[in-house]
Amino acid sequence: NLSVLEQIEKSGMKRLLVIGVGCQIQALRAVEKKLGLEKLYVLGTPCVDNVTRAGLQKFLETTSRSPQTVVSYEFMQDFRVHFKHEDGSEETVPFFGLKTNVLKDIFAPSCMSCFDYVNSLADIVVGYMGAPYKWQWIVVRNDTGKEMLELVKNQLDTQPVISQGNRKPAVQQSIPAYDQAVTLPMWAAKLMGVVIDKIGPKGLEYARFSIDSHFARNYLYVKRNHGEKLEAHVPEFAKRIVEQYKLPE
Ligand SMILES: Cc1cc2nc3c(=O)[nH]c(=O)nc-3n(C[C@H](O)[C@H](O)[C@H](O)COP(=O)(O)OP(=O)(O)OC[C@H]3O[C@@H](n4cnc5c(N)ncnc54)[C@H](O)[C@@H]3O)c2cc1C
Ligand code: SF4
Repeated sequence: NLSVLEQIEKSGMKRLLVIGVGCQIQALRAVEKKLGLEKLYVLGTPCVDNVTRAGLQKFLETTSRSPQTVVSYEFMQDFRVHFKHEDGSEETVPFFGLKTNVLKDIFAPSCMSCFDYVNSLADIVVGYMGAPYKWQWIVVRNDTGKEMLELVKNQLDTQPVISQGNRKPAVQQSIPAYDQAVTLPMWAAKLMGVVIDKIGPKGLEYARFSIDSHFARNYLYVKRNHGEKLEAHVPEFAKRIVEQYKLPE
């Protein structure tokens, strides 16, 4: 909650670490100079697809076998949603098995018009989408980010980034599929999940798949709902990504 920023000046605090998603970090950077800090460290995560409170309920009820015991969930790079339950068990559901026709309106309007997926104002970003399953992906953006990584480097197992497959056909197919809310029966979704796990984009190419498909979806959302703001709102880098694909009207 960003209201905590009001307490910083009064507290006399001089060094601060903030962890947040892109829109929180944008707000933080806007007031950074007024906080009276000697040093600010910003650790970001990539972020996409936050849901409204009502949307969350709908998502859990339509997707999980036990909605009331879910403690967290994540759309992971193996093309499955991973739910963690109170008893420590994990449940996975293939992306292609989601009831898209019912779930189309669960995302917050802010997130449907967001283009800061990769948290571009953080010093260092930690996510999973550019790494193989079970690994994390670290992007260091500047000297402060380097300093932060140096502090923990000797506690980390690292390996070079990988990139496999070709995201472009998968992104192109995902655009009309989402737009028309295509929903597969679970047996077909599971089969598709196994196939895409074998031949689909991995590592950096999965991250690009996720960024490109979300930017295309969000571009269409802004165009259809706030057409007059499209030109000014969508950043140039996002326009260049979206231009690579054929979009419905
Ligand atoms: C709203 C929101 C949306 C997000 N959207 C995305 C997105 O679209 N793409 C993306 O890449 N990231 C996204 N993230 C970031 C992602 O959810 C994680 O926060 C990020 O990957 C960093 O992981 P974590 O530190 O939170 O660790 P956790 O989520 O706690 O753990 C990450 C992984 O590390 C393992 N792990 C944790 N501790 C240990 C340990 N001690 N030893 C071994 N393994 C361990 C866990 O089992 C898990 O597999 C989002 C975050 C938020 C808050
Ligand atoms: S998707 Fe964008 S607007 Fe939504 S919570 Fe994440 S950073 Fe904020």
